[in-house]
Amino acid sequence: MQSFLYNAHPARVIFGRGTLARLPEEVERLGLARVLVLATAAQEGAARDAAARIGARAAGVFAGARMHTPADVTEQALALVRRLSADGLVAVGGGSTIGLGKAIALRTDLPQVVVPTTYAGSEMTPILGETRDGRKVTQSAPAILPETVLYDVDLTMTLPVALTVTSGINAMAHAVEALYARERNPVVSLMAEEGIAALARALPRLAAGTIAGGGLAGDAGAYADARSAALYGAWLCGICLGSVGMALHHKLCHTLGGTFDLPHAETHTALLPHAVAYNRSAAPDAMARIARALGTGDAAGGLFTLASSLGATMALRDLGLPREGIEETVRLALANPYWNPRALEADALRDLLARAWAGAPPAGA
Ligand code: NAD
Repeated sequence: MQSFLYNAHPARVIFGRGTLARLPEEVERLGLARVLVLATAAQEGAARDAAARIGARAAGVFAGARMHTPADVTEQALALVRRLSADGLVAVGGGSTIGLGKAIALRTDLPQVVVPTTYAGSEMTPILGETRDGRKVTQSAPAILPETVLYDVDLTMTLPVALTVTSGINAMAHAVEALYARERNPVVSLMAEEGIAALARALPRLAAGTIAGGGLAGDAGAYADARSAALYGAWLCGICLGSVGMALHHKLCHTLGGTFDLPHAETHTALLPHAVAYNRSAAPDAMARIARALGTGDAAGGLFTLASSLGATMALRDLGLPREGIEETVRLALANPYWNPRALEADALRDLLARAWAGAPPAGA
């Protein structure tokens, strides 16, 4: 076995159904008396419900989180933190809301209790990506890592089926890149394979079990089990993201999100099969483990089939990337590259992005 380094991040994790009921005791456990509850505008109701449960220890609600953590939104929320003399943060939502909490924590060192409602995995990482003047800049610091993460499967029941699929594949992307990361290690690789497998089993069941418009088809208990499996898989994938470095796929997604404001989970979904195909021959062991977790022969082809069969949009042009954006993305990826198992070659990257732009299957699949 090769030598390795394993860094675990300290966080308290509570996982299950109905765990939101434990939010007040978790706030108290951290000694907080004036928490600010964060959400997006769409999830203001969930934030108000969380604040009501916290009762007198809740100082207010800020329901203005937006995707890619724009700096001006952080400044508005910070003004409220100061006005309310908040001593802690509770983020209820997906990566956008969690990102806002992290951005505030970075500047104030306030403790965070995070209640994730998507599969993005941000809650498990000390990483923050912020957007200012059309550029997304990522940084890592201990203050960014949430203190307590409360996973309540019941809060994911309302996740629309399209976002369920793309957010689940966004989670898989963390595990996929962890398997060929430069800092990969046997423990994180175990979590990665298990995370991909849990999501690969759960997503088709969730897509099949959700009636257009949100209701459930068939057995509600089996549906809840699939929701639990997906959130469990997302947790594992989030640990992968927080533990080892990411590669080409994440670099391209950050560029597309920050520069062209493309939607996060959807962009990950459309791009992942192509990034995997790019790395196919440079990381054969990782490919075998990804394929095994997916129950397929080819990792890249398996990811493309899974995502497209569940109705995901596979063309970056349909997500808002202009044709000229391909060249700019290649330029930015080469200007400030992440480590990647295969060297970055401009022509091959152009081909990768042209396929993803058009929604074509990955090369060689
Ligand atoms: P999101 O948080 O923007 O959520 C998308 C929409 O779905 C929002 O309107 C939200 O309110 C709604 N929503 C979320 N959960 C819901 C639920 N259970 N029911 C109904 N509606 C729900 O999307 P996301 O994909 O979770 O997060 C994307 C952002 O997170 C990006 O900015 C990305 O960069 C960031 N991110 C950061 C990290 C990190 O480690 N720093 C990791 C992953 C993602």
